[in-house]
Amino acid sequence: MPHPIETLSLDGGWLCLDFTNTVSTRLPATGDDYLHSWDDFAVWVARVDLLPETEYRIWKRMPPGDIAEPRALRELIYGLFSHYAEKGVVHPGHLEALNGYLHEVYAHTRICMTGNGLRRGVEDEPHLEKPLWLIALSAETLLLSDRLSRVKACDNCGWLFLDTSKNGARRWCNMSTCGSQIKAKAWYHRKKKAAQRGAGKGRKGKT
Ligand SMILES: [Zn+2]
Repeated sequence: MPHPIETLSLDGGWLCLDFTNTVSTRLPATGDDYLHSWDDFAVWVARVDLLPETEYRIWKRMPPGDIAEPRALRELIYGLFSHYAEKGVVHPGHLEALNGYLHEVYAHTRICMTGNGLRRGVEDEPHLEKPLWLIALSAETLLLSDRLSRVKACDNCGWLFLDTSKNGARRWCNMSTCGSQIKAKAWYHRKKKAAQRGAGKGRKGKT
């Protein structure tokens, strides 16, 4: 299998952003997907610990859903945050689409008491779509948080990530892969420019 979900990097720094990064690259968009089947989605759900272990086992035994559903939610969330990363504003159409999805999700949520106070939670009963609801709620939380301004798209591959660097100047999803490629490209361009400047000077000297 060309793109196994088992080895996919989780570089987004936020649940819903990691979910948008289940394609091989966005720059350019090749259409190479890590979510080939519902089983792939189940592997991803396990990898990010989306459900408690007991609940996951029950969920996994349910008849599989249509992989088109996770993919559609993924592209909805990607569209919203990639537009924001590029333009610095949320597009009303993207917001309407997410609101439409969340409208369905809210029917299954409740305010829960936790050790750290109150939070919105999803009902305990296992449901095939529960992982999707949790991903959509993760997008809502990010949208309403002060971290929204730190959502970026990697300069090298287009994956979305939350920039948690001190100065907010990170441009890559992963330092060891895209970061080093961006640095190598910048070094190459600097060297090429310097060589061109040197050649220009040489020509000037001759005339
Ligand atoms: Zn990248």
